[in-house]
Amino acid sequence: MSLNLLGLNRNQFETLCADMGEKPFRARQMMRWMHQSGVADFELMTDVSRAFREQMAAGAVIAAPTVLRDTTAPDGTRKWLFDVGTGNAIEAVYIPEGDADDDAPAEGVAQGRRYRGTLCVSSQAGCALECSFCATGRQGFNRNLTTAEIVGQLWHASRSLSATLGIDRPITNVVMMGMGEPLANFDNVVTAMQLMLDDSAYGLSRRRVTLSTSGLVPAIDRLGEECPVALAVSLHAPNDALRDKLVPINRKYPIKQLLAACLRYIEKAPRDFVTFEYVMLAGVNDSVEQARELARVVKDVPCKINLIPFNPFPDSGYARSDPKAVARFRDVLMQADYTTTTRKTRGDDIDAACGQLAGQVTDKTRRRQRRDAVSKMANGFMEEAAQ
Ligand code: SAH
Ligand code: SF4
Repeated sequence: MSLNLLGLNRNQFETLCADMGEKPFRARQMMRWMHQSGVADFELMTDVSRAFREQMAAGAVIAAPTVLRDTTAPDGTRKWLFDVGTGNAIEAVYIPEGDADDDAPAEGVAQGRRYRGTLCVSSQAGCALECSFCATGRQGFNRNLTTAEIVGQLWHASRSLSATLGIDRPITNVVMMGMGEPLANFDNVVTAMQLMLDDSAYGLSRRRVTLSTSGLVPAIDRLGEECPVALAVSLHAPNDALRDKLVPINRKYPIKQLLAACLRYIEKAPRDFVTFEYVMLAGVNDSVEQARELARVVKDVPCKINLIPFNPFPDSGYARSDPKAVARFRDVLMQADYTTTTRKTRGDDIDAACGQLAGQVTDKTRRRQRRDAVSKMANGFMEEAAQ
């Protein structure tokens, strides 16, 4: 199999160039062609010597996973379904968010307007962590995505969007919130994020790349050391008894340990808070008493709280909380001085909520029949992540 250059970070690319007798700056030159100009054909890299281009073309490729489906909703949300082989599919979702209005400088300016566009990226085909309300968890784990497959989602989305929207850099934010647990695919995810941050590639600032985790404590610490980006933590319950059921990894890393890891992370993080995600499940975790308990439990951690309306899928056994219950829950948290947002759902009409799962994914666990039905995770988080 040819080497896929989309999977190489700057160091790896420079080493490759050195091995081929080229100067390190060739790596940056080629990275800019690939990641910034969206070029896949070595022939078009006109400032690189012909001999080197031919050498590269002989042993390497620049290729995203094959697109199975590309759908755009009326609100501009766009979803790509990618084939990653052996019956597995993953997806990436783009959420255009119009004018940027936060205090941070927006990274995109088009026709004189600052804008924001967020891409939700997958890290694994399936997931081994079995959260009970998540369709990916129900489907089981298939495999880790390679760095090239992770970056390939961004590369493909970026060049397609540039072509359709006529914007130079359509993606201003990335959230690792698609399919899979990113910290369970640590090395490939970190290499991919290094490319997201690299000035010769996507050049995003650390606060515009968000990683969401269900709470793999040792890996949170490692992330803080190796690639501190904005952190979102899927909390979903105010106590261990309930979280053990909803997010089984809690049995290994209970809430107290998780919150301690969050505190350690904030020391290294590009932001001075973490975002706690909390999926609102009717009659399970959405009472006023549970909101009070949540407010007490997270009180030592500088945080924002993002309430996510549950997106049902067949046989999930859960229902979305009533909007009134969500509003009451939010009010309790706001009264306790937490910045609390409720995620909007967008792209529903094309099943493009972030983290919605590809039906083609094979159920390796055989716990369930392969499903056509997919879960829809609400994606408004991206708006929070972008702030
Ligand atoms: N594995 C990581 C990131 C991917 S999931 C994690 O768990 O954080 C992204 C977010 O969607 C997580 O907060 C996850 O708990 C949430 N989610 C999963 N299934 C959902 C569903 N059916 N409805 C709404 N949100 C869901
Ligand atoms: Fe995996 Fe995240 Fe789904 Fe849990 S919520 S099963 S960690 S993808």
